[in-house]
Amino acid sequence: MSKGDGDLRDGLSAKEIFANSEGLTYNDFLLLPGYIDFTAEEVDLGSPLTKKIILKAPLVSTPMDTVTEADMAIAMALCGGIGIIHHNCTAEYQANEVHKVKKYKHGFIRDPVCMGPTNTVADVIEAKKTNGFTGYPITENGKLGGRLIGIVTSRDIDFREGDPQLSLKEVMTPIDEMITAQSGVTLQDANYILEKSKKGKLPIINGAGELVALIARTDLKKARSYPNASKDSNKQLLVGAAIGTRETDRERLKLLVSNGVDVIVLDSSQGNSIYQIEMVKFIKKTYPEIQVIGGNVVTRMQAKNLIEAGVDALRVGMGSGSICITQEVMACGCPQATAVYQVASYARQFNVPVIADGGIQSVGHIVKSLALGASTVMMGSLLAGTSEAPGEYFFSDGVRLKKYRGMGSLEAMENKEGKGSAMSRYFHKESDKHRVAQGVSGSIVDKGSVLRFLPYLQAGMQHSCQDLGARSVTILREMSYSGDLRFMKRTYSAQLEGNVHGLFSYEKRLF
Ligand code: NAD
Ligand code: IMP
Repeated sequence: MSKGDGDLRDGLSAKEIFANSEGLTYNDFLLLPGYIDFTAEEVDLGSPLTKKIILKAPLVSTPMDTVTEADMAIAMALCGGIGIIHHNCTAEYQANEVHKVKKYKHGFIRDPVCMGPTNTVADVIEAKKTNGFTGYPITENGKLGGRLIGIVTSRDIDFREGDPQLSLKEVMTPIDEMITAQSGVTLQDANYILEKSKKGKLPIINGAGELVALIARTDLKKARSYPNASKDSNKQLLVGAAIGTRETDRERLKLLVSNGVDVIVLDSSQGNSIYQIEMVKFIKKTYPEIQVIGGNVVTRMQAKNLIEAGVDALRVGMGSGSICITQEVMACGCPQATAVYQVASYARQFNVPVIADGGIQSVGHIVKSLALGASTVMMGSLLAGTSEAPGEYFFSDGVRLKKYRGMGSLEAMENKEGKGSAMSRYFHKESDKHRVAQGVSGSIVDKGSVLRFLPYLQAGMQHSCQDLGARSVTILREMSYSGDLRFMKRTYSAQLEGNVHGLFSYEKRLF
């Protein structure tokens, strides 16, 4: 902005709009457009997750048991973000999810469904109903890791439906007639082998002949490249995991670290506690290579204690989540836009990035949180209905849905899904047994694959930054702190005006 233009700046600076300590939410204000002299594709979305980890897309999936396990974390990392694996499960279960992400190789199926020689044609027909495919590697023990002895595909059972009790040993293509590849093979070489052999499946075995993975021709055809993928120095995908602040969490942490976790999130609604401060110090001393995200906090005073303890980033949000009843039940929390602005503007003095966690409902909310100083956003409800979120789809009144629940809901605390008891996480003494729910359990509409949804969010953010005149997320934040980015409060009627109105009916398709 050149000298003398000051009078032409409409609206308010970020500092001015938050000056009177009013609690604002993302819907209470708008950002005024700037000047465009670049294309939307040029907008750089790179932003720090922590002091040491920079992501190409500022997107994080929340550690909730209906949002992030390995499939979600893999998809998030492929698209340039990161997933944080939840801890409403045993330490072994969680560590195995971390392991799956770290060992992920694009195009390789790491947990192929296997069968054994005594399984029958009927088993394959039945499995097809659930899995949708008929090709199964046959191992001696019927499991991944067992010695590979054959493969059964639709061609092997096509004319055998009349004999469902026939064992797979009798119909399978035996190992000596199969093409396999040794573990360590590159995707490019595997592609070449499949192309030459004209087979549909390529089992990958180790030196002992044990099955370690599978490659399917159909997947290779679909395989896209992910140039923005979040990777460590070994070219493995980045992944985070959440833990609590109890003594038992130190054992969990050890297991997660030994499985290659990159980031630890200390998962609490109120992170400004002696428990969390001690845990931050313990992690930084014991595992200095691990990045630690503390929180949640919503005030500068809370942030101060955790920054002094040594956190590498702060997670901001209390009571703003879509499934949350904390503000109602605990009388405690802070409207999210104010919380993000206050904590981020304080934490930047110490070079500590802030994650805006909860209440993100749209691309617009993401950009607003970045404009308020957040470096990344953490999402629950936006991702919960995708195919990569844990849980099965179900139908209600003809609508395809998935479960989405708060981690402080009674249902999550009871956790009856068999991923190991998490009761120790929630209840510790007899006196703790009076449960106070801080979340609800509900359902959310099917959104398809996150691999399609994240590119939409990224393109949306680029277009929004272009409208604001910011060539990058970093520039957007700088514009906000310099006062060049202008904010305007929205009255209730302005909010109505800014939404679809006056139509008899409409369809809201976003991408
Ligand atoms: P928490 O583990 O921080 O707290 C549970 C209880 O355990 C608290 O009373 C806490 O003081 C106590 N505690 C923790 N460590 C302790 C220790 N070492 N010794 C003694 N007591 C200890 O978890 P929470 O805040 O109840 O949250 C549960 C889940 O619900 C989390 O996944 C959280 O993210 C989610 N949640 C989030 C929000 C939000 O607004 N962001 C709100 C509510 C719940
Ligand atoms: P959403 O993106 O608006 O759905 O919010 C997700 C966020 O809500 C999470 O990242 C948590 O910070 C928070 N959260 C998770 N479980 C609960 C709960 O039970 N009560 C309140 N907040 C929760």
